[in-house]
Amino acid sequence: MSPDEFRRRGHEVIEWIASYMERVADFPVQSRSQPGALRNALPEQPPMYGEPFDAVMNDLDSLIVPGLTHWQSPNFFGYFPANSSGPAILGELLSAGLGVQGMLWSTSPACTELETHMMDWVARMLELPQKFHPNNGGGGVIQDTASSATLCALLAARERVTAKHESGDDPASNLVAYCSNQAHSSIEKAVRIAGIGENNLRMIDVDDTYAMRPDLLEQAIARDRHAGNVPFFVCATIGTTSSNAFDPLPAIGQVAASDEHIWLHVDAAMSGTAAVCPEFRHIHNGLALADSYCFNPHKWMLTNFDCDCFFVADTLNLTKSLSILPEYLRNKATESGAVIDYRDWQIPLGRRFRALKLWMVIRHYGVHGIQQHVRHSVSLAKEFAEWVKADPRFELVIQPELNLVCFCLRIGDDATRQLLNAANASGKVFLTHTVLRDRFVLRMAIGATMTEHHHVKRCWSLLQELA
Ligand code: PLP
Repeated sequence: MSPDEFRRRGHEVIEWIASYMERVADFPVQSRSQPGALRNALPEQPPMYGEPFDAVMNDLDSLIVPGLTHWQSPNFFGYFPANSSGPAILGELLSAGLGVQGMLWSTSPACTELETHMMDWVARMLELPQKFHPNNGGGGVIQDTASSATLCALLAARERVTAKHESGDDPASNLVAYCSNQAHSSIEKAVRIAGIGENNLRMIDVDDTYAMRPDLLEQAIARDRHAGNVPFFVCATIGTTSSNAFDPLPAIGQVAASDEHIWLHVDAAMSGTAAVCPEFRHIHNGLALADSYCFNPHKWMLTNFDCDCFFVADTLNLTKSLSILPEYLRNKATESGAVIDYRDWQIPLGRRFRALKLWMVIRHYGVHGIQQHVRHSVSLAKEFAEWVKADPRFELVIQPELNLVCFCLRIGDDATRQLLNAANASGKVFLTHTVLRDRFVLRMAIGATMTEHHHVKRCWSLLQELA
């Protein structure tokens, strides 16, 4: 494709995306595609010779779009908001256009330095503790996902604890990790991948608000120590997936701090963005006790997937656990020690220029624009919760702190499940569910980039009609 043809087709594609943004509210939110439908519609063999671009674009409309669930629909209230925005899409496009690999500082200095700077901006926006700042031995890096950030935190924690043990006394076989029974499945996955073993993950029970009980954490740690195990990793969640519960960081931090081997990681995947608003910053109280922290701008901060901001207080353990320098990557800048090579801060070697989209988003919206987005989502969620409370057929399962409303029908799980199925089958909205204390509960996650008051109101009217 020549630059000239690219220019022409590029305009068409941007036009297609802009038109998609205008039309997305009208599509059935959840795809109605049947299993295998797309595979059956695609030719078995790849084309031997190149095809006209128009043919591909036609197939995009006729074959691909029907198989999409429209995450960018303002009527999408499932799972979590997967924010996308004009500036983020353009940042992604620029990143693709430049096609640089930012594995080493020397492979594209701007890729590394913009990332370091964006992490600095983000830390200021959220008022993160100073310990995560490079001046204090800390630092931030963009990971693809919170799952990767948690895995990296776990590996750094293992590095630290194994280094602390005397040689010959190998603690690697009896390391134990802890999280609440509401923590995201990525914690268990990280524990499995790292070879800690899921039997060495203790899922601590929660209180009435679904937050981890620090007293039970303390007891579990004491039991493990007594049994000769080595507690080494605690993951606290700020905004659990099921119900947006907040583990009490100050108390958990104290428990973790009582043992020099324990690394405290804080997973604030969706809710961390809220800390951009001073009035919600209290969700991070106690964060100064953590060794690492992550949140996903790709959920609620108007930034396209993938973008997870991962901060560590002591970058040395992270880089020690992940750094290998083969001959073919040696270079003067690395050897000078004056630069960051982000390949040492993540699992893969190669890395995309993700900081570009974050730069675009922060400069386009400003801190104020992002605050407005968060405040808007939270106020819609609070209003929705009031509507639920006012209808005697419904029960608000938890008073929402931020942008997630959990509710159900009083008459029972079957009715709630039927309501969810009917609402999603209508194509007008999309919600998901969870189970809280054995009850089937609907989750209404508010925060899609284009969601307005009338979308939320219409969703509630539909639920009332179908109930
Ligand atoms: N942690 C929490 C609390 C989440 O809610 C989620 C996703 O919903 C994750 C982690 C995983 O996020 P990611 O897809 O970025 O790995």
